[in-house]
Amino acid sequence: MEQSKLTTLGTQDSRLLFERSKRGKEAAMLPERAFPKEDLAANIPAKLLRKSEVDFPELSEPELVRYFVNLSKKNFSVDTHFYPLGSCTMKYNPKIHEDVAALSGFACVSPLQPEEEVQGVLRIFDDLAEALKQLTGMDAFTLQPAAGAHGELLGMMLARAYHASRGEKRRNVVLVPDSSHGTNPASAAQYGYEVVQVPSDERGRVCLAALEKLVSDRVACLMLTNPNTLGLFETDILKIRDLAHAKGALLYYDGANLNALLGTVRPGDMGFDIVHLNVHKTFTTPHGGGGPGAGPVGVVKALEPFLPKPVVRRNGTRYHLDYDRPNSIGKIRSFFGNTGILIRAYVYIRMLGLEGLRQASHDAVLAANYLRKKLSSAYLNPHNEYCMHEFVLSARDLAAEHHVHAHDIGKRLLDYGFHAPTVHFPLVVKEALMIEPTETESKETLDAFADAMLKILKEIEETPDLVRKAPHTMPIRRPNEVEAARKPILSSRDLKRDQSHNWSAHQP
Ligand SMILES: *Cc1c(COP(=O)(O)O)cnc(C)c1O
Repeated sequence: MEQSKLTTLGTQDSRLLFERSKRGKEAAMLPERAFPKEDLAANIPAKLLRKSEVDFPELSEPELVRYFVNLSKKNFSVDTHFYPLGSCTMKYNPKIHEDVAALSGFACVSPLQPEEEVQGVLRIFDDLAEALKQLTGMDAFTLQPAAGAHGELLGMMLARAYHASRGEKRRNVVLVPDSSHGTNPASAAQYGYEVVQVPSDERGRVCLAALEKLVSDRVACLMLTNPNTLGLFETDILKIRDLAHAKGALLYYDGANLNALLGTVRPGDMGFDIVHLNVHKTFTTPHGGGGPGAGPVGVVKALEPFLPKPVVRRNGTRYHLDYDRPNSIGKIRSFFGNTGILIRAYVYIRMLGLEGLRQASHDAVLAANYLRKKLSSAYLNPHNEYCMHEFVLSARDLAAEHHVHAHDIGKRLLDYGFHAPTVHFPLVVKEALMIEPTETESKETLDAFADAMLKILKEIEETPDLVRKAPHTMPIRRPNEVEAARKPILSSRDLKRDQSHNWSAHQP
C-alpha cells in the first residue's frame, strides 16, 4: 500500500478542473469568430443570445489530457480489472466488435434514409433476428427494445394485447419468484399489473406447491429466469410450464441469464412464450454505467401479430420495413433500436458460430463451478450444488460473528484489484455475494481472485476493522450509494455547488 502511494506521487493533484484553470491558457485554437455577429443577431432570437462570456476552464492541452486520463484510471472496467458482478455478465468485449460497429456504413447512416440506401443494416437486423430465433427456439423477434428492462415492459404489453385479443381482460396478475431480478416485478407493476411473489423452496427453486395455489385465470403471465438468480437450473421447468399453461397464463423468460445455455438448452423448448435477451450481456458490449444496451424480444407464433412495428421483411435479396401490422402494440422505441449494439451482437455470433457459442457457455459454467469449489468450503454457500454461470455465497455468519457485511467484503476486494461481486442480491440469500466470473477469464485470474477472497476471510477473523473500513487505496471510499444514484454529481461545477458533499473526507 505504501508503494502504491509512492507510485501515484505527482499525479495526486486533487484539484478539480475549474480549480486548475488559469486565465489565458488554451488547448484549442478557435477562429476569431466563426459566424459574423450580424448573422447571429439575424437568425437567433435575442433572448437566446448569451450576454456574458462562458465560464470555461482554461488549461493547456497536456494539462487537460493528464486531467482526464488520470480521472479515467481511477475507475474499474472489464478492460482493466476482473469484474465478477453476478447477473451482469461482465465478459471481455473483443475490440473487433468496436471496429465493425464504427464502420462508416453503419455508424454514419441515418434512420431517416430510404430503405434502398440501408439494405446492409436491414440485412443484419434480419440475420440477427434469425440467429436469435435459432438460439432461443422462438418463432419471431423484435430488436427494438433498448435494454433488458425495456424488453420486459414490452413483454408485459404483448401479454396484455394477447389476452385482450382472446377476450380475457381479467388477467391482471403477474407472478414472479422471490429470487427474481428487481426489474421483473418493477416492469409488471409499471404496466399496471398486480405483482404476486412465488416463494422458493429449500433447494432455491420455485416452490411447485405454492405455484399451484397461486396460478389462476387471473394470471396474465409467470416471469422466470432460468437458470435463476442463484445460478441454479429450474429442473422442474416443464412442470412449471404445464401449471401455468393449464390456467391459460403465459410464460415469460428473462433471458439476461442466457450465458449458461447457448447452444445447449433453448427457452422455446422449455415452453416459454415470450423471451427477452440482454444482448449487451450475453453477446458482449461494454455496459458498465448504465448503457447503451439492447433487449430484443422473441415470441411464439401466437404472439407474433402484436410485435412492435416496423418489422424487417425479406423479398428475394431485398429488404424492406413492414408497417402494415394492424394488431401491433405500436412502437416501443424510436426508429429500429440501438443499431450499434445489435451490430456488436451480430459480430459476436458470426465470429463464434454455434459451436463457439456452446463452448463459451460451457466455459462460463466451468469457471463458475471452479470458483464455487474453491470458495464454498471457506465461505457459507446455502445452495452448494453444481451451478450454472454464477453462484451465491453468504456473509450471514460473518455479519453475526464479526459485524462484517457482504458489501464490506466487496469494498475490500477493490484494494486487491478486483471489482466487487454483486452484493445483497438475490434477496432470498441474506448477505449475498453473487459471483459470475464469465468464460473470458484465465485460470490464473480465477486463482488470484479466490486467493484474495481467502485472505479477506483471514482479515475478517484477525483484523475485522481493516475490512469494515475498506477500501484503503481508492480515491473515493464510501459514497452514499442512494444519493449517488438519485442525485449524481456529474460535473466539477455540481461538486462545487453541492455544499453538503463530503468529497475531501473520502480522500485517502
Ligand atoms: C441485467 C438484468 C436485467 C435488466 O437488464 P437491463 O438491460 O439492465 O435493463 C433483468 N434481469 C436480469 C436477471 C438481469 O441480470
